[in-house]
Amino acid sequence: MVTGGYLYPWDADGDPACGARLTGLGIRRAAVAAAYHSVRALTPRHPRHKVVTAEHAAVYFRPDPDRWSGAGRLRPVEAPWSPRSFGRAAEALADAGVEVYAWTVLAHGQRLGVRHPDVAVLNAYGDRYPWALCVASPAVRRYCATLAADTAAQPGLAGLELESCGWYGFDHLHAHDKVAGVPLPPSARLLFSLCFCPHCQDGYRAEGADPRALRAAVRVALDPVLAGTAPDAALDPETAAAVARMRVRTAAGLRRAVLAAVAAERPRLPVLLHAQPDPLGFGPSPGLPPEETGAASPVLLAPTRSPAALAAVRAYADRACTDRAHAAHPVPGRRVAVTVGAVAGLGGDPADLPAWCADLAAAGAGELRFYHLGLASRQDLDAVRAAVEAVGAEAPRRP
Ligand SMILES: [Zn+2]
Repeated sequence: MVTGGYLYPWDADGDPACGARLTGLGIRRAAVAAAYHSVRALTPRHPRHKVVTAEHAAVYFRPDPDRWSGAGRLRPVEAPWSPRSFGRAAEALADAGVEVYAWTVLAHGQRLGVRHPDVAVLNAYGDRYPWALCVASPAVRRYCATLAADTAAQPGLAGLELESCGWYGFDHLHAHDKVAGVPLPPSARLLFSLCFCPHCQDGYRAEGADPRALRAAVRVALDPVLAGTAPDAALDPETAAAVARMRVRTAAGLRRAVLAAVAAERPRLPVLLHAQPDPLGFGPSPGLPPEETGAASPVLLAPTRSPAALAAVRAYADRACTDRAHAAHPVPGRRVAVTVGAVAGLGGDPADLPAWCADLAAAGAGELRFYHLGLASRQDLDAVRAAVEAVGAEAPRRP
């Protein structure tokens, strides 16, 4: 069992004690944000600041101008509130013996969606979702692949961890959201997240569904849910199957493009994908079919105890893995990493954390990643230490 934890670059940059704090917990790896969406974050232990406000999606390294000069109109911007802090954070952590993964958010970021509305998801009612870049757009695919490769090229990396490498949708997870007035069941959330941009319309047509008729059918299915007169929304089975084929094919195309760009840059760099086994899943952890035996390994989000999370771990762990690159992993089947909630104030359950981690290990998880070691309280970190001991994790490397 390998244990890791999430950090923002500003947690480690300028805090000389950060790396030793991690190794003292038994943490071997850190996923450090290299390209990240907007956030307001507490930094309780940092000697120079206590709150960092990331005003928009940004990268924490210098984008390679040669790489981006031919990559189209979608470009990342640097973060003036913490400029080029990824490299300094990675170096400090590596010096302390912590392996660094670059945590990179791809198809989610409001800044690009506001400036280039044509690449944002367009729902069946004609509303744009600027936080959700449509992965059927060639410009978005190129941006995601270029960003992943540019991140992979950063020095000192032990691996790459990709979030939102797939469809994003209605769910935004934004602190100021006021959208919970009408509860939307999963079926309605999917229909409310279907995109009707020209590229998606082409995609539906290619699968035998007429986009105009589909758009009307989606509204007919959603209207009663939004009006509170129906509990569920559904398309007819044939149309639903066409939509599913289009969504799965498009997401797989994005993954192929991104992973090929990373492999061209760093052929043997391990890649983790935030994922869920439902092929139609969308959001920060989009669908990754368990039978897909690509070169990347899944990271599952399982913040607190749930039967569904254990089933998801088993769905991936039980698949025989034929990829030689994974042969050294300690679990049968593919390497499965799981993100667990370590912060009580963000919905984690520190009292249950050691037992939950032991259950995840028994289900086939080969790696646990604690969310989030920069945001955690001292009591949260004590629970992380207990959980690391409970699963008998591999010790951190000596610096
Ligand atoms: Zn679209």
